[in-house]
Amino acid sequence: MSVCLRDAAQLLRPPEDGLPYLRHDRAAELSLEPGSLCVRDGRIAALEDDAQAELAIDASGGALLPGLVDCHTHLPFAGWRAEEYEQKVTGVPYEEIALRGGGIASSARAFADASDGELLEQAGSLALEMLAHGTTTFECKSGYGLSAEEELRALRLAEELGERVVQRTASTALLAHAVPEGFTADGWMDEVERLVPEVSAQALDVYVESVAFSVAHLERMGELAARHGLALRAHVEQFSTSRSVRPALEHGARSLDHLACLHADDLDPLARSECAAVLLPGAELLGAEQVAPARALADAGAICALASDLNPGTSPVLSLPLVAGIAVRRYGWSVREALLALTLNPAWVVARSAELGSIEPGKRADLVLLDCPAEHVPYRFGRNPVAMVLMEGRVVYVRPGQEWRIGRG
Ligand SMILES: [Zn+2]
Repeated sequence: MSVCLRDAAQLLRPPEDGLPYLRHDRAAELSLEPGSLCVRDGRIAALEDDAQAELAIDASGGALLPGLVDCHTHLPFAGWRAEEYEQKVTGVPYEEIALRGGGIASSARAFADASDGELLEQAGSLALEMLAHGTTTFECKSGYGLSAEEELRALRLAEELGERVVQRTASTALLAHAVPEGFTADGWMDEVERLVPEVSAQALDVYVESVAFSVAHLERMGELAARHGLALRAHVEQFSTSRSVRPALEHGARSLDHLACLHADDLDPLARSECAAVLLPGAELLGAEQVAPARALADAGAICALASDLNPGTSPVLSLPLVAGIAVRRYGWSVREALLALTLNPAWVVARSAELGSIEPGKRADLVLLDCPAEHVPYRFGRNPVAMVLMEGRVVYVRPGQEWRIGRG
């Protein structure tokens, strides 16, 4: 099957082909020039028109982007915690919310009570909404299991979800999210060590915070990841400064996520490394957290990524265009910086950037066509600009009213 996407007002292109990531101090080198591209056998074949194509898509007036990559979600999870959000914004302290039965423990209870079918149903319907917002690859995490058995179940369901949804998925075992009842943090890490050989995932993850796990536990997770050939990722520096960055870098972390409370002395070492800084502006906004030093990270040349952090507690947000809008406003980022952080760099985080994340010949033709120029994404805040989504050159989503774009070649 050959497909041609014709006459886009803008085609997002990297400064050169074959880059595994692009450091953020080079984001201005991304180009957004008019163009066409053709797809053969699911891959981008050339950056030109193809008059012989079997299917032609009129991309006029819009920006053509690589499919968006959401490298940090907590799918699958059960239910929502809307009551808790209202309590939080009206000033009820977290300790009291937890006493009333809220917090991670409530999501863990809901997860244990939900059937496999219910969990897959909820996650699958969220994946469909994500598709309509341009997400063609997303990460799943365990972490609401809080027991060996339920964590393994979460990872098995993440895998099943990957088989059901249109998108590509990657699985992360967030085996140290909160300390399960009846365990000390050290005792639970002993359990994690027994669990790791059984998990099917590409990465291990740990939540470093005073109420959860320590930097020493992060180092232990790093050793486990190295021993089992898995990537190391970590939730760090979200509500307090724990100086986790250097130890994480020494253990070869692939990404450090959150970073709202990053210590100034840790910024340059992170920015110089190949470890991505995954920023979660939706969680920062809705949680009234500190704002991550994203402008400084970008200027220092960090590999920055943006993600939704989709979860029922701190970030019930799935729209990456919305996340881009928050990032541009609150981080003082350019549109190119936001787009880079939603495409090539998050593809690097999930170890797929050789195949995905940029428009270049040879890569898989996972593409998003907007109905407007890219500059409108953050500016028309809260609006979904996605007109059409393709996976390997196959049209998998068309927004109602945009069907006119599809024609024979
Ligand atoms: Zn998270």
